[in-house]
Amino acid sequence: MSTTSALRQSHSDPSDPSSSPRDTSSTEPKKPAKAHSHSHSHDHSHSSFNPFHSHSGGHSHSHATPSPDSLRAALMGKGDRGSRVTLLGLASNVGLTGLKLFSGWRYNSASLLAEAGHSASDLLGDFVTLFCYNMSRQPPSKMFPVGFSKFDTLGMLTVSAILVVGSIGIGIHSYSLLTNIPFSESNILHYLPHLPHALAGHHSHTHEIALDESGGLLDPNAAWTALLSVVVKEWMYRITKKVGEEENSSVLAANALHHRSDALTSFIALLSILGSTAGVPILDPLGGILVSTMLLYQSSILTYRSTLTLLDSSCDEEVLDDVRTILQDLREEQLNNQETGTPSGRQKKDIRWDVRSLKGIGSGAGARIELELGFSKSDAISLKEAQQVERMIKERVMAEQSVHSVRVSFIEVDELSSIDFVAPLN
Ligand SMILES: [Zn+2]
Ligand SMILES: [Zn+2]
Repeated sequence: MSTTSALRQSHSDPSDPSSSPRDTSSTEPKKPAKAHSHSHSHDHSHSSFNPFHSHSGGHSHSHATPSPDSLRAALMGKGDRGSRVTLLGLASNVGLTGLKLFSGWRYNSASLLAEAGHSASDLLGDFVTLFCYNMSRQPPSKMFPVGFSKFDTLGMLTVSAILVVGSIGIGIHSYSLLTNIPFSESNILHYLPHLPHALAGHHSHTHEIALDESGGLLDPNAAWTALLSVVVKEWMYRITKKVGEEENSSVLAANALHHRSDALTSFIALLSILGSTAGVPILDPLGGILVSTMLLYQSSILTYRSTLTLLDSSCDEEVLDDVRTILQDLREEQLNNQETGTPSGRQKKDIRWDVRSLKGIGSGAGARIELELGFSKSDAISLKEAQQVERMIKERVMAEQSVHSVRVSFIEVDELSSIDFVAPLN
C-alpha cells in the first residue's frame, strides 16, 4: 500500500461517528417487513400446523420499541415462516412427549419412557430458537445500534451446546448399557426418573426387558410409536432446514440438526424395541454409540463456529467472494463508462475509485461488511461525488441476502490500482 497517501479521511475515531462525516454505515434490516409487527385488517384463522401458510391483504405496520411486549412478541413469534416452523416443532415435541409416555406405559417400553423425557427436554431448545430467531429479525435500536443479527448466532451457540451435552449423554448412556447387557433390572419404575434423558449420566440398566416384575410383557406395538417419532422428526428436520436456508437463519439451521438428532435417537429406541423382541439387545447400545459419535462431531463444529462468530471472527469466505464479485463488476462498469463516457460533466459511474480493503465480520448466517474506497488525489473528488459512489456500492452490496450492513470509508491515494485489486484485508 505504498501508493496510499498518509491522509486517512475517516475511521479516525470509530467511537464517535460525528467526528468523521465521510464515514457512514448502513444498517437497514434485510427484510424490513419481518421487523414490523403486523396487524391484519382482514380476518382469518392462523393455523400453526401449516408452516407455509402466507398472508396477503392489507395490513398496517407499527414499529415496536423494546418493551415487555416485544419480549412476548419474540417468544410468540409474529406469524412469519421461521416462527411457524419452530412452533410446529414445539407442538410436535409436546405431542410426542405425551404419546411416548402413554405408549411406554401401555406397552411396557423403557426406551419410549426415556424418549418421552428427551422430547420434553427438547422444548427448551425450541423456546431458545423461537426467542433468538425473532430477536434477530428486529431492526437496529438504540441499545443494539448495528442490529440484532448476533442473536441468531447466540441461539445457534445455545442450541448446538445443548446438542453437545445431549450427544455426550447418549454416549455415556449407551456405553453403560453395553457393559451391562447380561444383567437386567426388572422394575420398569426404574426408568421413570429418567428425565431428562438427554442429560443422562452414568447409570446402569438395560433398556428393554422381556418381562418385568409385574408380569408386563414388552409389547412389540411400542415400535410403531418409535417409528412415528422417526418420521415426524425427520420431516421436521427437512422443513426446518429449508426455512432456515430461505430465511438465512443459523439458529433455525441448528434447531433443524436437533430434529435430525431426535429422529436418530428415536431410531435407536426403535432398534432397542425390535432388538429385545428379537433377542438381540446389543443393537440398542451399538446404535446409540454410533449416533452419539456422529452428533458429537456435528454439534461440536456448530458450537465452535458459532463461538467464533460471536467473537466477531471473519464471515464465510463465500460471502466475501460474492461481495468481491459485485465490487469487481462495479469497477468494470466504471472503467467501461470511462472509455465511452461523455466528456462534459462526470456521471456518478464515471468517478474513478478502487477498493483498498474489504472485511466481513460474521453475524448470524451473514456478515457485516466494511470496505475502504480509494480515490485518486489528482481526480479531486468532492464529498458529494464520493457519497454517490458510496450509495451505489451500498445498494448493490446490500442486495446480497447474507449482507446485514455495509460500512464504507474513503481514502485518497496517489494512484488507483488495477481492476483486479480487491484486497481481502488491510
Ligand atoms: Zn435409558
Ligand atoms: Zn432432542
